Amino acid sequence: MATITLQDIRKKYGSDVAIEGINLDIRDGEFVTLVGPSGCGKSTTIEMIAGLTKPTSGTVSIGERDVTALPPKDRGIAMVFQNIALFPHKNVYDNISFGLQLRNFDKAEMDRRVEDAANTVQLSGMLDRMPSEMSGGQRQRVAIARAIVREPDVFLMDEPLANLDAELRVHMRTQLQRIHNKLDTTIVYVTHDQAQAMTMSDRIAVLNDGELQQIDPPLVCYHEP
Ligand code: ADP
Ligand code: ADP
Repeated sequence: MATITLQDIRKKYGSDVAIEGINLDIRDGEFVTLVGPSGCGKSTTIEMIAGLTKPTSGTVSIGERDVTALPPKDRGIAMVFQNIALFPHKNVYDNISFGLQLRNFDKAEMDRRVEDAANTVQLSGMLDRMPSEMSGGQRQRVAIARAIVREPDVFLMDEPLANLDAELRVHMRTQLQRIHNKLDTTIVYVTHDQAQAMTMSDRIAVLNDGELQQIDPPLVCYHEP
């Protein structure tokens, strides 16, 4: 877990202002969802939190530290996007463990973590499958397992369910809630989907035209107390 602090972040693309002075404190372990019309700056904001896009001014801190001060692999951040890309020639085990292999984890620890992550997304029997042998929803769960296997302090998701059909979206909503309850991770989530925002979030941040319009807990809260 880690706090995330956005301190007066601004982002310009050329002379176009994408983000104007957003301040936001996200607590340890909180699930915050960014919503708002297309083009309001949701993706830019989440990319700045990830350290993938540098703010024109202002700072993003994870814990006490400026996110850009650490090399990407040491930031404790995992990300899942709408358009997932699994390695087509690797099985589920190798897709999930890829990030751990890069960090030279030993095999026993890697096996333990992969099994745990696969279990969390309910793919435990499928470690030997190839992506081509799986449904869209299963592949998306592999992408989520690949992110959580690293036990990130911060888990960022940008429309991770957008390509799934309606039924699977509802199913994955429950899964993501379970993941949030199970892992001690701070989550920032981008969606267009009201139902996802309302059911999963501790707080919903509404962006409009590059500004934070309001941030509040959902009115209807389905969370366990
Ligand atoms: P959202 O995710 O809410 O749809 P974005 O963060 O993608 O919004 O975009 C916010 C604004 O910044 C939009 O006006 C968009 O056109 C602009 N923008 C985003 N990325 C770039 C880029 N790489 N170059 C130029 N403009 C960009
Ligand atoms: P490559 O991805 O280079 O073809 P392998 O498929 O042999 O290599 O797997 C790479 C590593 O992942 C090996 O250490 C292998 O034992 C391990 N591995 C692959 N699939 C599984 C699995 N289902 N359960 C446990 N370990 C696996």
